[in-house]
Amino acid sequence: MFDLNAIVRDNVRKMKPYSSARDEFEGEASIYIDANENNLGSLAGGQVYNRYPDPYQSQVKKEIGQIKDLHPKNIFLGNGSDEAIDLLIRMVCRPGEDEVLLFPPTYGMYEVSANLNDVKVKTLPLTYREYQLPVEEVPGAVTEKTKIIFVCSPNNPTGHLMDSGRIDYLLRTFNGLVVVDEAYHDFTKGLSWITRLDEFPNLVVLQTFSKAWGLAGLRLGMAFASPEIIGYLNKIKPPYNINQATQELALQALRNRDQLDEMIQTILAGRDYLWHSLASLPIVEKVFPSDANFILVKLAPELPADEVYGFLLQKGIVVRNRSKLPGCANTLRLSVGTKEENQKVVDAFVELKIRNWK
Ligand SMILES: *Cc1c(COP(=O)(O)O)cnc(C)c1O
Repeated sequence: MFDLNAIVRDNVRKMKPYSSARDEFEGEASIYIDANENNLGSLAGGQVYNRYPDPYQSQVKKEIGQIKDLHPKNIFLGNGSDEAIDLLIRMVCRPGEDEVLLFPPTYGMYEVSANLNDVKVKTLPLTYREYQLPVEEVPGAVTEKTKIIFVCSPNNPTGHLMDSGRIDYLLRTFNGLVVVDEAYHDFTKGLSWITRLDEFPNLVVLQTFSKAWGLAGLRLGMAFASPEIIGYLNKIKPPYNINQATQELALQALRNRDQLDEMIQTILAGRDYLWHSLASLPIVEKVFPSDANFILVKLAPELPADEVYGFLLQKGIVVRNRSKLPGCANTLRLSVGTKEENQKVVDAFVELKIRNWK
C-alpha cells in the first residue's frame, strides 16, 4: 500500500513553510504596505509588475483545470517542469541515502537533479529494439530506498510512447512515486495519464507549456497529482516561483487555445514529411517512430553522426547529436521546424547522399 507520509522526508513533513505577505492577508484593501514593494510604480510595465505575483497562481490553475478537467487542487505550476522534477526529488529523497530509478536513453534532467541533490541514480536500459520499459527487472532493482521512478512518455530522445500496461504495472507494484513525464503529450493521440489520477495515489504527471504551446521562453511547467502531493510541492516551492508576466501570458495562451490544434496539426504534418523523406534515404539506417515534435535519425554506420552534424552546421542547420546516449549510437535528433525549414533539412540530407554514396 502506498503511504505518502511514509516516503516524504522527515524535515519536509516537519518544516514550516515560508509565510509570504500574500499568504497572511488575502482580502481586499485600499493601501498595501505589507510586502516592501514600491507603491510608486516601476521602471517597466507600469502599475502591474511592482507587486508580487499570486503565489498559488489561482486564475491560471482554474483555467488549466477547465481544459484538463481537473480540480486546481490537483495542479502544481513550476518554473518549467524542470522545477517540478527537482522539487519532487527534494520532497521524498534524502541526500546521500535515497535513490531514483531511470530508464535510459531518456531526458537528462532527472539525472542532473538527482546528482545535484546527492541522490543515487539507478538505471535499467529501455529494452533493446522496441525501447519499452523493462518492468520485469524493476522488482530486482528497487529497494526501500528507491523513492521515485521516472518514466518519459513519449520518450525523449526516441520519441515513442511507453506501453501503458507496463506503466500501469509500475503504478500498481511500486510503493514510491511514479512520475510520468508527458512533455510531448499534445502531439499524441492517446489519453493522458491525468485521467488515471484517482486510481493511483502515487502517480505524478508532468506536462509543459514549452513544447506544443510554444512558450519555452516563459518557463511554465505543470505537475498533476493528488492534493496531498500537490500540498507538499506547494510547501517546499519558492514562494513566488511563477512570475507575473508568465501568469498573464499563460492566461492569454489558454484563451487562444482554439489555435493550438491547428498548430499541432501543422507540426505533425511536418514530422511525417521529415520522417518519410529521411527514412527513404540509403544513408539513413532508421528513423525512430515518433509521437512527439521531433524525430531521432540513426545514420548508416559508414556515416558518422559527428560528420553529418558538422555538414549540417555548415548549412546553418543545428541538430542535436544524441550518439553518446545508451542505445542511441550514431543518432541525431531533429525538431520539426516550419515547412521551409523542414524542406531545407531534407535537401541537406539529400545532398549528403550524393556526396557520400557514390
Ligand atoms: C522539454 C522537456 C521538458 C522540459 O520542460 P520545461 O517545462 O521546459 O522545463 C521536460 N521533460 C521532457 C521529457 C522534455 O523533453
